[in-house]
Amino acid sequence: MGMLEGKKGVIFGVANERSIAWAIAQALHNEGMELAFTFVGEALESRVRPLAESLGSKIILPCDVTDDSQIEAVFNTLKNEWGGLDSLVHSLAFAKKEELKGEFLTTSREGFALALDVSAYSLVALARGAAPLMEGRAGSIVALTYYGSQKVVSNYNVMGVAKAALECSAMYLAADLGPKGIRVNTISAGPIKTLAAMGISGFKSILDMVEQKAPLRRNVSQEDVARTALYLLSGLSSGVTGEIIYVDGGYSIMGL
Ligand code: NAD
Repeated sequence: MGMLEGKKGVIFGVANERSIAWAIAQALHNEGMELAFTFVGEALESRVRPLAESLGSKIILPCDVTDDSQIEAVFNTLKNEWGGLDSLVHSLAFAKKEELKGEFLTTSREGFALALDVSAYSLVALARGAAPLMEGRAGSIVALTYYGSQKVVSNYNVMGVAKAALECSAMYLAADLGPKGIRVNTISAGPIKTLAAMGISGFKSILDMVEQKAPLRRNVSQEDVARTALYLLSGLSSGVTGEIIYVDGGYSIMGL
């Protein structure tokens, strides 16, 4: 019997089989968790639905996180179908392509607001929806972040600022929800070739640098990240909240 047998989790952020969220979903499913999935737009629905169904998922819903009514609909459905929730995975982010190259200085007001809304505020909105369903069930929330929040990474620009806001939001949410037994943590993943990553100008050179400089001398995989997500979304991490856990082959510890 898997260690997550009888548990229920919702996954935000599967776009295709390369998505970090998809590897996390598979790891949770392998331990017996029942999963619900969300998608953005019809084009992605045709990708996400077959993947979700291959894991036996019956709840597959639209959810653009900039739309409060879609968020509300997701949690209403989870309440009606499951009556409660144990895990939530926030594995999503967005910035306009033109904001992910050149100087941060040129970031537009609109581009800044959009990146922060989709990539950071969404965690607050989703946690608020999930919290009533997680009370009394030792709920756990995990969001995906990146080192560009802590140090300047060329071309990451406004997404670095959004990830800093996401990490700090997770900390404040952990403080609010801790008394209810709900934990909130972030995983800072090393660079991985996914749809979102390909939007960052010069991404290949980041992969090359990590391979040369990281203590493990390799890039991490979606599965490396998924194993840490499994830890954070299970009782194995029962005393851990408000943390940023790096899954980056050790890259972030290196100085000169
Ligand atoms: P991905 O493209 O597979 O996933 C990004 C997801 O964000 C997609 O499913 C997309 O539908 C979703 N999304 C975008 N706008 C949305 C909106 N308005 N509403 C709801 N969902 C929306 O790429 P990924 O690399 O798996 O990204 C997952 C997470 O991991 C992101 O937060 C990303 O910043 C983070 N991350 C990625 C890397 C990397 O190198 N790939 C490294 C560290 C952190």
